[in-house]
Amino acid sequence: MTLRIGVIGTGAIGQEHIARLNGKLAGSSVTAVNDINPESAEAVAERLCPGAKVHATGQGLIDDPQVDAVVVTSWGPSHEEFVLASIAAGKPVFCEKPLATTAEACKRIVNAEMATGRHLVQVGFMRRYDAGYRLLKEVVTSGQIGEPLMLHCAHRNPTVPAHYVGEMGITDTFIHEIDVLRWLVDDDYVSAQVIQGKRTRHALNGLDDPYIVVLKTKTGIVIDTEIFVNCQFGYDIQCQIVGEDGTANLPEPATVPLRKASVAGRPILMDWKLRFIDSYDVELQEWVHATVEGKVTGPTVWDGYFAAVTSDACVEAKRSGAIVSIDTGTKPDFYR
Ligand code: NAP
Repeated sequence: MTLRIGVIGTGAIGQEHIARLNGKLAGSSVTAVNDINPESAEAVAERLCPGAKVHATGQGLIDDPQVDAVVVTSWGPSHEEFVLASIAAGKPVFCEKPLATTAEACKRIVNAEMATGRHLVQVGFMRRYDAGYRLLKEVVTSGQIGEPLMLHCAHRNPTVPAHYVGEMGITDTFIHEIDVLRWLVDDDYVSAQVIQGKRTRHALNGLDDPYIVVLKTKTGIVIDTEIFVNCQFGYDIQCQIVGEDGTANLPEPATVPLRKASVAGRPILMDWKLRFIDSYDVELQEWVHATVEGKVTGPTVWDGYFAAVTSDACVEAKRSGAIVSIDTGTKPDFYR
């Protein structure tokens, strides 16, 4: 069976996902698109999925009988509306992160999905599909390094654009660690603290950069992550797990060792898209297969809600300097 997909939001990641779902991956085709800018949607359809219907509204696309499942890649504040409408229509939906821009909105989606009694929504936290993180998780679950005790992580970008302001280091950048680290150690966070670093001269618009976020989990694991988005030298994602019997590191991406200009070493990627490009393919291919089988096997609405609550706590911790509790309430049996 070919899963017929409608994509809402034909911007940067929307176009990449359309190209994947309409040619590169098996078992799917894009039959409808929508964007708030109709000309953009028309042009994208013509280029990437000729014949797909261009809808004037997201709701029109969701109601289209030629659409079996929906992919939401519009900007964050519109996600709640389209995810809730897809749930109401009983259609599976893949929503790019964030699930919604507030924890309250994510909770509304949790409640709406549970009310249907069906798992319909997957959230686009693609790091869980990265080969390196998957290998690291295998090491943890196999018990090779014993119980994880501490994690030392870093999320470094060479630079960020001028519109990267305020707390985006948490809400846009660290949000990926929030999801993947919780998945990696299979534990929930209970508190967040932020320690400001000395500000780099490369930070624009008064941005705080760098800083360290410290998360503590229910079982007592301490996770420190350096967020440094103007590090200049590369897109550098690090993760080391310290266990009772050893340590395990996230593998470096495969690059060719060079000897050049009196240096022997490996290049560091500069573009985040290249670092995780394969994981997007794996993520959407698994989503297509699971959706055809009527399942959700990836990050759930509860994971999206948990990430939003944690992100809010980190923002509060950064602003206040205090250790802030993370409380999502009890995970419903529906998501166990
Ligand atoms: P983008 O290039 O701005 O694309 C978003 C598109 O959606 C734009 O064409 C935008 O139009 C359109 N749009 C906005 N509101 C809409 C609405 N109500 N109905 C229909 N279309 C609407 O942004 P992007 O970089 O693709 O990001 C899109 C989403 O994906 C964001 O939530 C982002 O966080 C997420 N994302 C995730 C990853 C990841 O690694 N998982 C990577 C990149 C992006 P306008 O330009 O007129 O606003």
